[in-house]
Amino acid sequence: MQADAMPELPDIAAYISALEPRLVGKKLEQVRIASPFLLRTVQPPLASAEGRPVRELRRIGKRIATGLEGDLWLVLHLMIAGRLHWRPPGVKLGGRNNLAAFDFADGSLLLTEAGTKRRASLHVVSGEEGLHAMDPGGIEVFEADLGSFRAALMAENRTLKRALTDPRIVSGIGNAYSDEILHAARLSPIKLTHKLEDEEWERLFTATRETLQLWIERLKAEAQMGFPEKVTAFRKDMAVHGRYGQSCPRCGETIQRIRYADNETNYCAKCQTEGRVLADRSLSRLLGKDWPRTLDELESMTRRACEDGAQIASSTMQGRKP
Ligand SMILES: [Zn+2]
Repeated sequence: MQADAMPELPDIAAYISALEPRLVGKKLEQVRIASPFLLRTVQPPLASAEGRPVRELRRIGKRIATGLEGDLWLVLHLMIAGRLHWRPPGVKLGGRNNLAAFDFADGSLLLTEAGTKRRASLHVVSGEEGLHAMDPGGIEVFEADLGSFRAALMAENRTLKRALTDPRIVSGIGNAYSDEILHAARLSPIKLTHKLEDEEWERLFTATRETLQLWIERLKAEAQMGFPEKVTAFRKDMAVHGRYGQSCPRCGETIQRIRYADNETNYCAKCQTEGRVLADRSLSRLLGKDWPRTLDELESMTRRACEDGAQIASSTMQGRKP
């Protein structure tokens, strides 16, 4: 099992659907902070949030924004290891992983972060303007049409994987759901956006919406049963993500991977790359470089190789086993 991963749009939607009935209309009595790294803003002061009722919750990219009376917003980014929990009121903040508690009369929203790195962040901002400044600016898939989706992804010539996961291009999608979307669309993760045909754009747009919608519904239904305590990028019903070496649910072939330093992209060669395995070694040999450490490196290497007219992947699935 890979390391844990950042909650994406369906996870955040599930958190919000669980938080709404617990928080909206309730007074935020107190905020207790255990980690000095969490709060990233000074003005407005965090204390000014106390005593105000919650008016609404919103997703801003991969962040959860809690709107309080007076247009004051608490904007939380869970990053990779941050998670939320609903606990009895006044829950103790002891323990290394507990970063903060947001106290309400009926319960406390506890923020934890596993591991030693402190990446989760809390911003206190005022008004729509302050909220807007927290938005990386990617398009909202459910507000976009095919034309605006295509224009956003084509603004730069990126690999599909990178374009989908760049928060400045598309809002809320990360490593897990981009794998699922590209599998549903039957498109290669390293195909460049400027190379896509009309019909492929339609497939990608439809797959993006349908995949996210499916998972939003699934995770919201789970959140109805109880507060989402087990938020993970690896779900047993996923088609390819986190399923390296297992069978593709559509065609039965073995799921492949492209590895980076601390992450990987999963795909089905038969469904997505015309049977070509984007194998670690063959790709790096072809590109004449070390295997990329990040998606950005992979992308610049891919682009260079395409410009040179090179074949991206040489090996075929025949006789290959992961
Ligand atoms: Zn397949």
